[in-house]
Amino acid sequence: MKFNTKTIHGNQQHDPSTGAVMPPIYQTSTYAQSSPGQHKGYEYSRSGNPTRTALENAIASLEGGEFGLAFASGLAAIDAVVKLLKPGDEVIATNDLYGGTYRLFTQVFEKYQIKFHFVNLSDASIVKKYLNKNTKLIWIETPTNPMLHIIDIKAVIDQIGNKDILVAVDNTFATPYLQQPLLMGADIVMHSATKYLGGHSDVVMGVLAVHDKDLADKLYFIQNASGAVCGPMDSFLVLRGIKTLHVRMQRHVENATQIAHYLEKHPKIDKVYWPGLASHPNHDIAQKQMKGFGGMLSFQIKGNSKDDAVKVLENLTIFTLAESLGGVESLCGHPASMTHASIPKVEREKSGITDSLIRLSVGIEDVTDLIKDLETAIGLV
Ligand SMILES: *Cc1c(COP(=O)(O)O)cnc(C)c1O
Repeated sequence: MKFNTKTIHGNQQHDPSTGAVMPPIYQTSTYAQSSPGQHKGYEYSRSGNPTRTALENAIASLEGGEFGLAFASGLAAIDAVVKLLKPGDEVIATNDLYGGTYRLFTQVFEKYQIKFHFVNLSDASIVKKYLNKNTKLIWIETPTNPMLHIIDIKAVIDQIGNKDILVAVDNTFATPYLQQPLLMGADIVMHSATKYLGGHSDVVMGVLAVHDKDLADKLYFIQNASGAVCGPMDSFLVLRGIKTLHVRMQRHVENATQIAHYLEKHPKIDKVYWPGLASHPNHDIAQKQMKGFGGMLSFQIKGNSKDDAVKVLENLTIFTLAESLGGVESLCGHPASMTHASIPKVEREKSGITDSLIRLSVGIEDVTDLIKDLETAIGLV
């Protein structure tokens, strides 16, 4: 089955009792048993719920894996992965992580004696420097936020040979439409389904997909034991979002392509960060491992004045100034004072997050309206 069919039919079946084409929202906490322990596969909705099962099956299909698991948020999904580890274990993670992931690793799990090495995985060979007998997990995020760096997933996996080390990829920015890490040899794929999978800015959720039964069992144990599950209504919403993932992503990419080229030629813009531009330092890797270059881009206004960036953001009317990304509507943000405000200015600037950097989540509106909006707002500085 091709991807564009899987989004609609992958691992899905009509409701066996009524023929309902979409799985009903099984808004129930518990399930009747005919005799103690005799039930129809469901006992209690933390352990399993049919609407969540339908979503988890869809996720597995999309990522080319065998098993899917859905959680209350992206961070709850990451939390479950790190709980596979024990004190003394070590993790090698990219240094350009989603801020919430960094916070979870350093402020929650370091307390439990799990050691994290944050390194620039753009150079995959750096992994060898940090590998030792305690290394249990490599955490990759690509493309990264907000600089859209690209990490070569296969090259990182090649560094560990056949050692017993899990490789996990946060695939939130790319989505399985553009990039399928399990098929490149990764063990775990993670998503903030809050973003493109849900796609309509109306739900917070996280998911995991894996190949291996033993790994799926361990993660399922943690999902049930720790209990950060998502509810049936949210499962329904994300399942519904997934049905249009391929058409939404196609338009996100088309619109971002036009906007990236428009901004690159704009006399008031210094730099545009989008992996589809030939000027992007990792353009070749992106071309190799992604089917398209995504709907996220960042740009810097000439002169690097924060006031200019703020003026542009305040005057955009179709782009909404807001956190988050991946919904049908276009959003804009100021990483230096929003998502990355907790990083000291010197550190921020080192990684390119300057005061005039603006991040766009390009939506699926008509691109001429989006460009006109940018034209007007940038014209004011
Ligand atoms: C939003 C996001 C997360 C966290 O997901 P939540 O659903 O907000 O918990 C993790 N990784 C990336 C890349 C994200 O964009």
